[in-house]
Amino acid sequence: MTKRDYYEVLGVSKTASADEIKKAYRKLAIQYHPDKNPDDPKAEEKFKEAAEAYEVLSDAEKKQRYDQFGHAGMGGAGSGGFGGGMSMDDIFSQFGDIFGDAFGGAFRGFSGGGGRGMRGSNLRVKVRLSLEEIASGVEKKLRIKRKMAAEGVRFATCGTCKGQGQVYRVTNTILGQMRTATACPTCGGSGRTVEHRPPGVGEDGLKTVEEVVSVDIPAGVTEGMQLKLSGKGNAAPMGGAPGDLIVVVEEQEHPELKREGQNLHYDLPLSFPDAALGAQVEVPTVGGRARITIDPGTQSGQILRLRGKGIPDLNGYGKGDLVVHVNVYTPRKLSPDQKKILEELKVQPAFQPDPKHREKSFFDKVKEMFS
Ligand SMILES: [Zn+2]
Repeated sequence: MTKRDYYEVLGVSKTASADEIKKAYRKLAIQYHPDKNPDDPKAEEKFKEAAEAYEVLSDAEKKQRYDQFGHAGMGGAGSGGFGGGMSMDDIFSQFGDIFGDAFGGAFRGFSGGGGRGMRGSNLRVKVRLSLEEIASGVEKKLRIKRKMAAEGVRFATCGTCKGQGQVYRVTNTILGQMRTATACPTCGGSGRTVEHRPPGVGEDGLKTVEEVVSVDIPAGVTEGMQLKLSGKGNAAPMGGAPGDLIVVVEEQEHPELKREGQNLHYDLPLSFPDAALGAQVEVPTVGGRARITIDPGTQSGQILRLRGKGIPDLNGYGKGDLVVHVNVYTPRKLSPDQKKILEELKVQPAFQPDPKHREKSFFDKVKEMFS
């Protein structure tokens, strides 16, 4: 099946504002909402398609990638948190707010039926990564505390909803009168309540356990990015689907390198003789130190670009560069002898700044900017 263009799915132009995108999605989400279209697989498909389009177009970073690369740019990188199909649970947990009052609040219980119940809650953990780990991708072991189902818990049928998991109410909406199902406030939609629980088990029938989870971090992640491990969050009370583990990326500052998107920048201090005579110097990279050649006559402010020594693209579209900025060091304290040597050099024509050179280096810089 060929995927439809996300803008076409939402019926908006490529220049649509965030607000227009949100409005367009809200309209479709209400139109194809499962409560309004029970047992209609076509509506469910449209509902999911719109949510997927909205997931991408409402996120500045994903939208930019989509605008640039289309569906290819959304391909599954790493731990599955990016793009791809969304389950109904995903849609409601992420975009449930969009309906406002149109469907009366609690959506988790919409799947109906006794005993299906609510989803477990999501867990969020931060993972601190060095630039080296980000450059290569890394497997991290994270110690988490999650809620798990406990032995020895006895359940009883919920008295409020008689095990249905839902309570119904009729609301007047902009779309006319609607009978809406809301998760039962007593049992949270599960249709069951805990009748007996052993010590150490919470009122929800769950106990907290410590666990080590291993997470594959793909190369190229950025600060604040979230990786989702489906089903690795808290267990659901009364046997619903477990929540997700959301891993939030934190980037550790590198002592020498500055990251800017996929490019890395390094300020190289260079002695005046090395700049004038040329030299071999070492620069730090994310894969260890690299030797580079400084040409004779190198100027302060000159930029040396080490292609492909930056951070890889998350989706595998190449690597950034390491951009080395040359800073020629001017000595601060000079002995009388050193001063004498410089006084002698100063008057020689070769030591006079060349105005033509200044022009050239300006254009070189402009060229760098556009390369
Ligand atoms: Zn109930």
